[in-house]
Amino acid sequence: MAKYIFVTGGVTSSLGKGIIAASLAKLLQSRGLKVTIQKFDPYINVDPGTLNPYEHGECYVTDDGAETDLDLGHYERFLNLPTSQANNVTTGRIYQTVINKEREGDYLGKTVQVVPHITDEIKRRMMLLGNSGNFDIIITELGGTVGDIESLPFVEAVRQIQWELPEEDCIVVHLTLIPYLKAAKELKTKPTQHSVRLLSQEGVHPNVIVCRTEKPLNQELRRKIALFCNVKPEAVIEAMDANSIYEVPLKMLQEGLDVIVLKKLRINGYAAPELTKWNSFLQKLATPKHKVNIGLIGKYVELQDAYKSILEAFVHAGAGNQCKVQIVNVHSEHLSPKNVHEKLKDLDGLLVAPGFGARGVDGKIEAVKYARENKMPFFGICLGMQMAVIEFGRNVLGWSDAHSTEMDSATTHPVIALMEEQKKIKNKGGTMRLGAYDCDIEKESLAHQIYDNTQISERHRHRWEFNNNYLSDYTNAGLIPSGKNTIKNLVEIVELKDHPFFIGVQYHPELKSTVENPHPLFVGFVKAARAFSESNKSASDKQTV
Ligand code: GLN
Repeated sequence: MAKYIFVTGGVTSSLGKGIIAASLAKLLQSRGLKVTIQKFDPYINVDPGTLNPYEHGECYVTDDGAETDLDLGHYERFLNLPTSQANNVTTGRIYQTVINKEREGDYLGKTVQVVPHITDEIKRRMMLLGNSGNFDIIITELGGTVGDIESLPFVEAVRQIQWELPEEDCIVVHLTLIPYLKAAKELKTKPTQHSVRLLSQEGVHPNVIVCRTEKPLNQELRRKIALFCNVKPEAVIEAMDANSIYEVPLKMLQEGLDVIVLKKLRINGYAAPELTKWNSFLQKLATPKHKVNIGLIGKYVELQDAYKSILEAFVHAGAGNQCKVQIVNVHSEHLSPKNVHEKLKDLDGLLVAPGFGARGVDGKIEAVKYARENKMPFFGICLGMQMAVIEFGRNVLGWSDAHSTEMDSATTHPVIALMEEQKKIKNKGGTMRLGAYDCDIEKESLAHQIYDNTQISERHRHRWEFNNNYLSDYTNAGLIPSGKNTIKNLVEIVELKDHPFFIGVQYHPELKSTVENPHPLFVGFVKAARAFSESNKSASDKQTV
C-alpha cells in the first residue's frame, strides 16, 4: 500500500512548491523508499502543450509523449527517474474524462456534478500511481494557491482521501511565505495563519508547514506559527532562500522535513540518507575551475522559465566539467547582420533554442552563420537544428530562399517541411511528434564520439522535419546527417564537417539531463566551449607578446 503526501501552497504563487516536493522526494528516495511525484493543475487546458511559454514557462515532455508542466522536469532531474502521462493531470483532463463518460451513458439517469463526479475522477487519478504497486510514497503537488476558486475540487478530493485512508497513510504539507517587512525589521506570520485557516475552512488541515523566508525563523516565531496553525513546533520547517535549487534537499534534511514526514506516516526502519552523488555534484558546482560564456539565442529569453530544462542541463554539464557556465541571453529578434559580430564576439559557444513561428527566426539564422564561419561551438535544438539546415541551404548551397514551410509556405527550397503524418492533422492539442523515439548514430561522427553509442532514444516535440529530398545536396556539401530514425526515415542529427563542434538535433536532449546523469551533448558542448575559449585566450596572449 502506497502512502500519500499532498503539497499545497498558500499566500502567493511562485513559492517553489515543485522544488520543495522534489526535495522531499529526493530525501525519501535517499533513505531507500520508492517515491514518485505528480502534479495536479487547476487550469482548464487539457495539458500545457497549447500554452505560450510566456503563460506557463516551458512545456516538459515525457518519454510516453505527455506535454506537461515544467515542474515534472524538476521531479526527473532530482529523482533521476522518468515520469509519465499519469504524473500530470489538469482540470481540463478531469472534465474531459467525465464529459466523455456522460456522453457514453455511464451516468445514465444521474445529474453529473462537481461533487461527487469530478472529485471522484480527481481521486481516482490521484491514487492511480499508488495503486500500481510500484511505489511506497506518492507525492502530489497541487498547482495554484489555496483559496483559488478553481482549486476547490482538488482540495475537496484531498479532504476525502484523508478521511478515507488511515491517518498514517496520508498527510498534507503546506508551503507558505513568511514576508520580511523592512520598515518593521520583522518577519510576519499572519499571512501564514490566514492561509492555514483558509485551507482548514476547506476541510484540510496541514500536518507540516514549510515556511519560505529570506531570514531565519527563530524559536519564538516557530512556536507562534505552530500554536496558531495547530501543529507541533517540530512540524514547522524553515525554507530559507538557497543559492541553487539543488541545495534545497540538504537544507530540508538539516531542518528534518523528511524525518517529520516519516514520523507522521509512521514509517520506521528507514535507512540513513545516501546522498554521495548529490553531494559530489554540489561540491563540483561550488568549486568551478573554469568559466565559459554561452549565448542562448531565443525569443523568450526575458522569461527564464521558458528555457528551464536547457538552463538546468547547463548546470549539470557545467558541474561535470568543473566549469561555470555563464548564460548570456541574446534576444533573436534583436540580432541582425549589422550587430551580430558585436553581440556574439565575446562568447565561447552558441545554443540556438527551440521555438515555434516566425518571430526571431532571422536572428537565429544570423547566429548560426556566425558560429559556422567563426568555428565557434554551435548547438541547435529542434527549431535551432532547423535553423542550421536553413542557414546552410542559403549561404553554402546558395538557395537564397531556403526556408521551413512553417514560416514560408511558398519557398522554392522547402529544406524543412511538414512531416507526412502531420499533413492531415487539424487539431493543435497533443498532435505533434511527441515523446521518445530511437535514433541510430553513424560511426565516426561527432554524435558518436559524444554518445559513445550507435543507438539512442531521445524525446521529441515538433511537426516539421529535415526534407529528405535535399539529403544528398547537404551531405555532399558537408552537413552530415549523423543520426536517423530508420523506421520513419527522419533525420535526427546534423553536424558539420570541418568544424570543431557544430551539431543540431531535432529532439530535446535537455529533457533527459539529470543531476546524476548530465546529458552527454551538453557535457560535450561545454567542453568544446572551454577549448574554444582557451584557444582564443592563447591566441590573444600570443598577440600581446
Ligand atoms: N516549430 C518547429 C516544429 O514544429 C520546432 C519545434 C521546436 O523547436 N520544439 O517543427
